[in-house]
Amino acid sequence: MIYSSNIITLQCRKSKIKDMNNFLKRDEILMISIGILDLQGDVSEHFEATIKSFKKIGIKSQVLKVKKISDLLKCDGLIISGGESTVIGKLMEKTGMKQAIINKNIPILGTCAGMVLLASETDYDQPLLGLINMKVKRNGFGGQKASFEEEIKIFDSKYEGVFIRAPYVEELQDGIVLSKLKDKIIAVASGKYIATAFHPEITDNTMIHEYFIKEVLKCVE
Ligand code: GLN
Repeated sequence: MIYSSNIITLQCRKSKIKDMNNFLKRDEILMISIGILDLQGDVSEHFEATIKSFKKIGIKSQVLKVKKISDLLKCDGLIISGGESTVIGKLMEKTGMKQAIINKNIPILGTCAGMVLLASETDYDQPLLGLINMKVKRNGFGGQKASFEEEIKIFDSKYEGVFIRAPYVEELQDGIVLSKLKDKIIAVASGKYIATAFHPEITDNTMIHEYFIKEVLKCVE
């Protein structure tokens, strides 16, 4: 499934883009594609939130659901949604998607189960992408009944975090902490990867998706 918007057209230079605000004012042509991994989980919510974010930023875009490796090959960035990381991981291995994602080497936003899958280690025996050198505790805040909403701080702004059987990062070996809830790390960035323990796709605030899109823009050549 593909969504295209025709708003402002921009072009990504082959060189690294240092100043995103100046870059976004450029009057040239760019089209970027973001895929939502569609093996299991709350894919539609991410799909809608990504479309909304592209509209806000105002660039020509394509958002697609990634069911097959051929879909992944069209993407400049990938989102791995919440769901059940054990199930998504097994499906990723079975379909060859796991190695394809690693080989594709594009920016990834992983939310909740997506955070777990990006980790190099968890407290459970499960297939992982291992793209962020960190140890994650699955269901770190408790099970389904322990799900909650709480105001957090991220990028110097207040943000309503939705936590559903949420993980947290026990140890981050490589990267920066974007947010903590009390003493627990709940959002990190490492290289071209961003992971959140909460669910940005089910709030109206598109700040996290917009941040991710801008990170993808920096990597597009
Ligand atoms: N704890 C779940 C897991 O390990 C993630 C929960 C979620 O994505 N809402 O997969």
